[in-house]
Amino acid sequence: MRVRFAPSPTGYLHVGSARTALFNWLAVRHAGGEMILRSDDTDQERGSDEYYRDVIDGLRWLGIDWDEGVEEGGPHGSYRQSDRLERYQAVAEQLRAASNAYLCFCTPAELDVRRKEAQAAGRPPGYDGRCRTLDASESTARQAGGESAVLRLAVPRPGETVFDDVVRGEVRFGHDHVEDFVILRSNGSPTYHLASTVDDVDFAITHVVRGEDLLSSTPKHILITRAMGAEPPIYAHLSLLMGPDGKKLSKRHGDTALHAYRQGGYLPEAFVNYVALLGWNFGDDETVFTRDEMVERFDLSDIQKNPAVFDNEKLTWMNGVYIRELGIDEFIARTLPAVEADVGRALDGGELEIYRTIAPLIQERMKVLSEAPAQVRFLFIEDLEYDARSWEKVLTKPDARAALETGLRNLSDLGEWTTETIERSLRAMLAELELNAGKGLQPVRVAVTGSSISPPLFESLEALGPERSLARLQEVLDRL
Ligand code: GLU
Repeated sequence: MRVRFAPSPTGYLHVGSARTALFNWLAVRHAGGEMILRSDDTDQERGSDEYYRDVIDGLRWLGIDWDEGVEEGGPHGSYRQSDRLERYQAVAEQLRAASNAYLCFCTPAELDVRRKEAQAAGRPPGYDGRCRTLDASESTARQAGGESAVLRLAVPRPGETVFDDVVRGEVRFGHDHVEDFVILRSNGSPTYHLASTVDDVDFAITHVVRGEDLLSSTPKHILITRAMGAEPPIYAHLSLLMGPDGKKLSKRHGDTALHAYRQGGYLPEAFVNYVALLGWNFGDDETVFTRDEMVERFDLSDIQKNPAVFDNEKLTWMNGVYIRELGIDEFIARTLPAVEADVGRALDGGELEIYRTIAPLIQERMKVLSEAPAQVRFLFIEDLEYDARSWEKVLTKPDARAALETGLRNLSDLGEWTTETIERSLRAMLAELELNAGKGLQPVRVAVTGSSISPPLFESLEALGPERSLARLQEVLDRL
């Protein structure tokens, strides 16, 4: 099996494209063979290095590797389309010499007028074939004389292109609906159809796994392949991703650029696991798989053709599952850089110890790694900023002052500062004031951590230590 992932570097890696890459990768790692990374960069003006890097970084982050590619090379020369223009032109020339393609001199303005006429008359709006009957040597002479011309494929008429899509079953395109499409523009640059097909043939691609948005391009690619005297590959068109509302996935549903998930504290393992399940049916209710299990079980023929729903909430749930499975050292390694960036400096040895004690407690509750800095900031920042909403909601309540005063008094008398002694002393405060935990402990939480959301309170106080805890309680009392 030889598959390819062929991004156009004209935008950031989209989660839908990441899923296409993943399905290619799972298929080829399951079956054995080569994964090829090709850059569809013929659209030079829009393409950019930044986008290309984003794609590469995204694939690497997901743990998707490839055997031949733009930077690593391979037996087929360059895997960058912009390096292969001469090859596309040579194939175009062959097709023309064999009368499978012809020069077309119709100007855009003429085409526009005729397209509108066709539409008004209820005929298909595609190219009407006017230049198809021109004498070939005459056309060559006109072009040599400086007339601008594109090259079009002579689609067999009447005719039909039929193929067996792995996902969709038999697909038929009557040629009434396939116009004589352009393969070479007047400036000599190839269209996507030509470049992509020549590459698929030259790179000996056996399976083209790509999005359903390209389904209507496939008869064109099959026609070019056959005109080149080659056998078409097997095609698998993946259904597009939808948002939970059944509409095409877009920014309205959340982030669509993969890097947003990477920066937002998602684990690549969780992302891969979640995305692998979008349209892949393997017949049971399990949802959490290791990469090896996925590779072992994946089969292109199990992909479902109904649209798959990309649901941020489910992804986030799965991310939480994966976070809890991390070993504590791994968890610390993955969160510490963001914690230190938030604090604005590296933690010293004592602070690292403190982070080690609190880390398991936040790990248990987190859904995305990026929640970590806000949860532990109170331990490492002297000039704590109080969350305005928490202050308003908790510290302005009638019982808050009494809870803080009695809490402070009780805690000041503690001999030993441990989670257990802290808990006992604060529960005594609740009993004395006849307050429930919400009314009595939330003020303490906001006062020492700055927010009504924090790691467990007694442990947080222990980690913060007696001096800073008592000082914060006093400071808040003074401010009240
Ligand atoms: N470069 C095309 C795209 O990004 C995909 C080409 C293909 O898979 O055939 O949409």
